[in-house]
Amino acid sequence: FYTGPIDRYFNFRLGRLGYRTLSFERFEGDGDYQGTAVMNYCDEDVPYTRISEHKHFAPWEQEKFSRTVCFREFSRLAGPDDAPYYPIRLAGEKRLLNDYIALARSTRGVSFLGRLGTYRYLDMDVTITEALAACDRMDTLLSTQQELPPFFTDPV
Ligand SMILES: Cc1cc2nc3c(=O)[nH]c(=O)nc-3n(C[C@H](O)[C@H](O)[C@H](O)COP(=O)(O)OP(=O)(O)OC[C@H]3O[C@@H](n4cnc5c(N)ncnc54)[C@H](O)[C@@H]3O)c2cc1C
Repeated sequence: FYTGPIDRYFNFRLGRLGYRTLSFERFEGDGDYQGTAVMNYCDEDVPYTRISEHKHFAPWEQEKFSRTVCFREFSRLAGPDDAPYYPIRLAGEKRLLNDYIALARSTRGVSFLGRLGTYRYLDMDVTITEALAACDRMDTLLSTQQELPPFFTDPV
């Protein structure tokens, strides 16, 4: 099972798929900064896309902390050394993705899973649903001694 970037698995043999990444800016303060875990900023004139305030992820611990830690997220194109966060999936990437899918389908002994293995943006709930479905299917295939597929979910 491979859950890293599909292009990296093949050593970028066909080229690099495009990703967006984030730069994080940490800041601290007293008390409660924004009253919620995540606030999104969609206006064009705001350079960051959201602010996460971590104390709100564990509201049951709030009484313990008088200070707060927040992170602003700045979206940008990922370079080769950046963490690949969001697949871009425009026309050029989709063409290249199709070539990587063909390569994956002709490769034995590996199943590509998850957001990077299938080059799709996935929310957590979808990720978990797909992982459980893959486990069920795996169970059936292995119990009948069938080979596991390169993809449990169609990446296109
Ligand atoms: C910046 C960002 C913000 C997000 N915000 C939200 C949100 O607000 N709400 C929401 O629902 N979802 C959000 N998501 C989506 C969600 O976090 C992901 O879709 C989900 O974590 C994907 O799970 P995954 O298991 O497919 O991949 P990952 O969580 O990336 O796990 C893949 C794992 O494989 C490991 N791995 C990779 N290559 C190798 C290798 N060669 N050998 C061994 N291990 C390897 C990695 O280390 C990693 O642990 C966000 C995602 C990102 C990137």
